[in-house]
Amino acid sequence: MDPDAAKVLRRLTRYGHTAYLVGGGVRDLLLDRTPKDFDVATSALPQEVRRLFRNCRVIGRRFRLAHILFSDGKIIETATFRRDPAQRIESLPGVIAPGIPLVRGPKPVKLVPITDGSADEDLLIRNDNVFGAPYEDAVRRDFTINGLFYDLERGQVIDYVGGMPDLLHGVVRSVGDPAVRLREDPIRILRAIKFSARLDMGIDPDLYDAIVRHKSDLGRAAKPRLLEELLRFMRGGAGHRSYFLSWDTGVLAELLPELAAFLDDDAPEAGLTWARLALIDAMHAQGELPSDAVLLSALLLGPLEEAIEGVRDPSRAFEDFMFELTQRLTLPRRLKDRVRALLASQRRLRSGKLGTLPRRDYFPEALALFMIDHQARGEKVPDWAFQESGVSAAPSRRRRRRRTPR
Ligand code: ATP
Ligand code: MG
Repeated sequence: MDPDAAKVLRRLTRYGHTAYLVGGGVRDLLLDRTPKDFDVATSALPQEVRRLFRNCRVIGRRFRLAHILFSDGKIIETATFRRDPAQRIESLPGVIAPGIPLVRGPKPVKLVPITDGSADEDLLIRNDNVFGAPYEDAVRRDFTINGLFYDLERGQVIDYVGGMPDLLHGVVRSVGDPAVRLREDPIRILRAIKFSARLDMGIDPDLYDAIVRHKSDLGRAAKPRLLEELLRFMRGGAGHRSYFLSWDTGVLAELLPELAAFLDDDAPEAGLTWARLALIDAMHAQGELPSDAVLLSALLLGPLEEAIEGVRDPSRAFEDFMFELTQRLTLPRRLKDRVRALLASQRRLRSGKLGTLPRRDYFPEALALFMIDHQARGEKVPDWAFQESGVSAAPSRRRRRRRTPR
């Protein structure tokens, strides 16, 4: 348990509020993994949280959240319990898992979406800014494994959604009807894939079917979030599995049809793409993480090289290839330009005649891509490349925590 998160929980409860550790922090602790961050949910309102902590700022215009700041930039995100205004809860919950691990089976809450059930009804969540009770906060979460609460004072896991058995059996399962939950927020499709891949868990068959059936809803999701999740696939150390699942479910054909079609061909070149992804996962396991531009270039290298190979105007061919993709994912200009530079420098790196390349600010990234590609091909990386890479690839900028909660 993180000592700072514990401080936040203790102080909130000492002042009479309910406060639990929630989300990925609880999940990862129970799985014996190191959590990326610790989130707290509480009955205290954002202003009340702010009054209790000096090192606190309230952020967000629509949904107010408290960020409690600790040393070395650590932030404990503290949100007031919320409910989904469109969800009616039919049976009353009340499962408290006594201590850890849970032995007693849970009684999951039955969720009834307020909808006429017609297929084309727009379920997209637009307003999730309503305070609620703890169980309402649990059932608005995406997957049962992400809906567990930890009560530090009592040393208990509170399971309103059946997350404990799913955690024990390794199943990613929606809270409530997967078809409804995916249509409410299509990003959950990518989150399901990400958690299944990263935690090496199965996807509940109903959720899997819903992913296949509703994958085209991804077109309605916020585009920057799509790009972010696609990058997270690789940043999380399970890029190979995540992209394989995306390809297998047809999700990849929605988001990156140019890559999906390339992989469908099953040529040796497609195998290289999988090998590059596996290499990035291996780098992650050693604590190395290339920049977003390197990740994206490695992902798209196969179809990109195919598109520019042998054409008279490669730069035009690059733009043509990237045009729709850029719109579809709102790829920032800066990132696209970087990918272009990295791609263009590969020929020079392969020839070993570097010229002025080492003086470019993108040289370390170009070299990182070169080495990923080389190793994926099972070729020996030239000695000069190892020497040069003493500069090592530019680390990806640490992402700031998201400001708006989902
Ligand atoms: P990670 O280890 O990647 O941070 P996480 O589970 O903590 O995984 P976050 O994106 O940090 O994921 O979100 C924190 C929690 O907020 C989740 O565990 C989940 O309970 C809830 N959540 C996040 N995104 C959604 C969503 N799209 N729909 C419903 N609940 C969500
Ligand atoms: Mg998290």
